[in-house]
Amino acid sequence: MNLPDEVMSLDFIHDQLPGRIVFGAGRRHGAPGEILALGPSGVLIIGGAHDANMISDLASALDVPTETIIGVRPHVPAETVRDALVTVDRLQPNVVVTVGGGSATGLGKMIARDRVVALVTVPTTSAGSEMTPIWGTTEGGVKQTGRSLRVLPSVVIYDPELTIGLPQAVTVNSAFNALAHCVEALWLTDTSPIAAEAAVSAIGSIICCVENVAARLDDIDARAQLLYGAHRAGTVLASAGTGLLHKTAHVLGGMFDLDHGAMYAVLTPHMVGHHLITTPTAQPWLTDALGPHPKAALDELANRLGAPRSLAEIDF
Ligand code: NAD
Repeated sequence: MNLPDEVMSLDFIHDQLPGRIVFGAGRRHGAPGEILALGPSGVLIIGGAHDANMISDLASALDVPTETIIGVRPHVPAETVRDALVTVDRLQPNVVVTVGGGSATGLGKMIARDRVVALVTVPTTSAGSEMTPIWGTTEGGVKQTGRSLRVLPSVVIYDPELTIGLPQAVTVNSAFNALAHCVEALWLTDTSPIAAEAAVSAIGSIICCVENVAARLDDIDARAQLLYGAHRAGTVLASAGTGLLHKTAHVLGGMFDLDHGAMYAVLTPHMVGHHLITTPTAQPWLTDALGPHPKAALDELANRLGAPRSLAEIDF
């Protein structure tokens, strides 16, 4: 990294958030021990249908009252949250576990926002939500988001083996979600140099890994690198926050129920092009991360990976 002094403002605030990170192939097998260490009196496990086997194995390994909710919906509809809270109020768990993408994590976060529970998260996409104190829910076509330390997971377990079955399109689009967390940090005015440097470094590694994974979906090392990139992108989002890119995706996602990752694949190159013109301070950071032509670099990446290039291409 070789940036002019005036770009690196050494007058900043950076929130370093708490939480335990457990990372590695096969680490899901340690999940019961991680959960039991939290002293559970009851456990609710939430996840998608593709993770049903892991969820039922986990439920049977816990020697405390445990229930499961299998099936989550994108953008965390408010009625899904209300239904889950009915289960929570009956079971009275003090630990909630989520297994899956940002939709599963998001439902767990809404429960943690509204009830006193510790959250354990096992992410399977590159959404990065598990590292942020940001919650989101959708009602009547409007997605609302907010921040609360209550929704921050106590433990995050990353197991790249769980991402092997993630289809090519989800893998690619979700990687653009992680890239979006990083590039947006580079034009927000109060991003700390800690977050900006982490963002630049994560961008290069996410681009390299997603190309390797796209070439071979069962490459466990590339999957691990991509999952690690997503973790770093989540920490950047947690620190730097959101701007025009994330807010545009939230409005479109809430209104039209569009696939979250696919939206970022479409929007991110355009937003980079826009901020290269409107936010001169972002230019050195963006060129450091993406080369002399940052928008073209992302356009070419999206083309190489077969990502959607317009909102009209996204199913909804
Ligand atoms: P998602 O959770 O809906 O998952 C995307 C797709 O991947 C789904 O079709 C799902 O079925 C599939 N999938 C997930 N795990 C799988 C597995 N193990 N095997 C096979 N398929 C699998 O979507 P997402 O893109 O991960 O997350 C999007 C949601 O997360 C949005 O609601 C977004 O607002 C939220 N989000 C929140 C934050 C935050 O900080 N609060 C950050 C990023 C995203």
